[in-house]
Amino acid sequence: MIVLEEVTKNYGALRAVDGISLRVEAGEIFGLLGPNGAGKTTTLRLMGGIILPDSGRITIGGISLLQDPVAAKKIIGFIPDRPYVYEKLTGREFLQFIADVYRLERSRAMKRADSLLEMFGLDGRQNDLVESYSHGMKQRLVIISALLHDPQVIIVDEPMVGLDPAGVKLVRETLQEQAKRGSTVFLSTHTLSLAEEICDRIGIIHRGRLLATGTMEELRHLVQTGVQDLESIFLKITMEDIN
Ligand code: ATP
Repeated sequence: MIVLEEVTKNYGALRAVDGISLRVEAGEIFGLLGPNGAGKTTTLRLMGGIILPDSGRITIGGISLLQDPVAAKKIIGFIPDRPYVYEKLTGREFLQFIADVYRLERSRAMKRADSLLEMFGLDGRQNDLVESYSHGMKQRLVIISALLHDPQVIIVDEPMVGLDPAGVKLVRETLQEQAKRGSTVFLSTHTLSLAEEICDRIGIIHRGRLLATGTMEELRHLVQTGVQDLESIFLKITMEDIN
């Protein structure tokens, strides 16, 4: 479960996130949509404990991220939009390193790593240096590393960028499977069809403010245009805010 209460983040004079309150339940997939610069990545980084808010409260699985950041981060799997990995380690060494960071029992963690490596089609390359991986392979490795500790809360920034169609399908199915098993999945995306397909609820953010949240049905009702697709709803909500 993720709870945000009146969360605000400023970068100098710019208010990147403006008083966002939101609750996402266990087993739910929530998608955050918004134009470029709307505040999506900032919101995700706040939820992952990577940056601190100027005000407001964030609770992850009942644990205050601000008061007990280590305990909260233990149950978070964070997948950034760009795969930052140690190039001079092999894929398997990188996963061992991550298992150690999370203080997981090594043999159990590496057993899980093996099955994830196989699932993500990296088992044949696990002993090669990460620097020899393609962008999509690095992205797959980062996703595996974020799932290694079986997180209760998965935060994903633009999950599909740089992945081939098979990778997209795999990530989509993995996120759905994790949610089915009770994890909370929070993702940001520009891929409206993905949001429409896998998200239980969608939030639309613009200029740091959460303009609307709801199921597709609720968002349709909100704009009351009779249009059916998420793209039209998204444009209507964000354009109305501009005008
Ligand atoms: P995109 O879809 O383009 O990735 P986004 O919705 O993820 O955008 P953010 O990256 O959260 O948007 O940025 C929100 C605002 O905060 C933007 O105006 C951006 O320029 C600004 N911003 C983000 N990070 C920083 C930073 N480290 N320092 C200063 N300003 C920042």
